[in-house]
Amino acid sequence: MTDPMLTENYHNDTAPKRHIPQHITFWDETLRDGEQMPGVHFSAEEKLAIAEKLAEVGVEVINAGIPVVSQEEAQTVHRIAHAGIKAHILAAGRTVPGDVEAIINSGATHAAIFVAASEVHLRYKLRMTQDEVVQATVNSVRRAAEAGLSVAFVTEDTTRAPLDFVERLYLSALEAGASRLVVSDTVGVMTPLTFRWFLREFSARVHPKDWSVHCHNDFGMATANTLAALEEGVNAPHVCVNGLGERAGNTSLEEVVMSLESLYGIKTGIKTHELYALSQLVEKYSGIPLPPNKALVGYNAFSHEAGIHTHGVLRNSLTYEPLQPEILGRQRRFILGKHTGRAAIQEKLKENGAHATDEQINHLVDLVKRKGEQAGKDVNQELLKTYKSQFEQPGLKDSEFWDLAAQAGIERGKQA
Ligand code: MN
Repeated sequence: MTDPMLTENYHNDTAPKRHIPQHITFWDETLRDGEQMPGVHFSAEEKLAIAEKLAEVGVEVINAGIPVVSQEEAQTVHRIAHAGIKAHILAAGRTVPGDVEAIINSGATHAAIFVAASEVHLRYKLRMTQDEVVQATVNSVRRAAEAGLSVAFVTEDTTRAPLDFVERLYLSALEAGASRLVVSDTVGVMTPLTFRWFLREFSARVHPKDWSVHCHNDFGMATANTLAALEEGVNAPHVCVNGLGERAGNTSLEEVVMSLESLYGIKTGIKTHELYALSQLVEKYSGIPLPPNKALVGYNAFSHEAGIHTHGVLRNSLTYEPLQPEILGRQRRFILGKHTGRAAIQEKLKENGAHATDEQINHLVDLVKRKGEQAGKDVNQELLKTYKSQFEQPGLKDSEFWDLAAQAGIERGKQA
């Protein structure tokens, strides 16, 4: 039988033309944007271990962090840059002289220099004119390029910025020595179609050779938008393991890789069978639990309980699974519970060499279903309570903040 993914429905020729590059470079942001997720803080050792695993999996560019953030961050970036990791180690910073010097001093070979591009960011955050932004960009990019770094120029909020300004800014960055251009959908407002239009426009005006997109998942479209960008010829998508990142997170590495491999039939060069181990490592070090229903790496991504589904999968896994879990280094699970049917029970008995009559099996199915329905929710409720107390208010508790304020000699006044 043909693989259902290879049917005509799937590969029809009325789909818009794709311009996916021959080679896709994965640029991972887990250690930078991922760490900016509320409550996430990696130790130097954890960052190093994640960077090593990313390189082992086949990620080519690793953003190690923003050295100017703190002394500790600068030391960590320096350590990662000198650890002999087989990937390009990149450090990031604003179009500010101190940031650029910190990048140069970190020993990273690659730099990402960023500034905002949209009117709302210029007016309210940077309080800079377009001319000032261009000038700061040219100075910073030139300084980093002259220091021998491979420079990527990034704008924040590119997708809400006026295209004429975007054109002028990126052309200035190219002229100053930037070798890669990064377009950011910082607040995740693109849809696949609007993003393709935006990037086509960007490409016609700026003619980028090496370009990236940085997508956010505010509307749940980070992966879809990133794939749309690759269809427009973007060759180095920004990704985060498990989709970590600010607010609703960034594009998830595993989703883009597996979409390319399984849905587009593209060899990414990523060791996909290591993806689950990487995901588990990042879950452990970030302390951010994977949602059970997270695509590909969530606990339920290859679990089946419903009788109809289990029956189908036992006959042929393609009935209810679009890809084999082993491709990701995972295993399929059959869950016994309220929705269990005969097939799962028969299979389990057979696996364990147990013989049973039809009547016995029917009886057992009833018992399993009833047990599933009666199963206490205590453990789940307890877990949920702990989870909520942690994630509804991550970071320092209010009392901890005021203790620190007291240490700084600040007293709480009368509340207005
Ligand atoms: Mn971001």
